Amino acid sequence: MKTMNCKQLGGACDKEFHANTFEEMAELSKAHGMEIFQQQDKDHLEAMNKIQELMKEPKAMAEWFEGKKKEFEALPED
Ligand SMILES: [Zn+2]
Repeated sequence: MKTMNCKQLGGACDKEFHANTFEEMAELSKAHGMEIFQQQDKDHLEAMNKIQELMKEPKAMAEWFEGKKKEFEALPED
């Protein structure tokens, strides 16, 4: 298992996620984002806006995603 926190994944808090693959990690982060979104947390809303801006540029989004994936792969196993 590897550990990344919300901030490392483009979010806004220190909540940690544990996953075996980056895809799993992305799902956990997304689920957390949805949950926090319902609470209208200002920091997370801002973070999410940034990601949404990125999504308008598929190339930039792909690069961002690849970068995070590399970061994940470079992490030591827990
Ligand atoms: Zn968070």
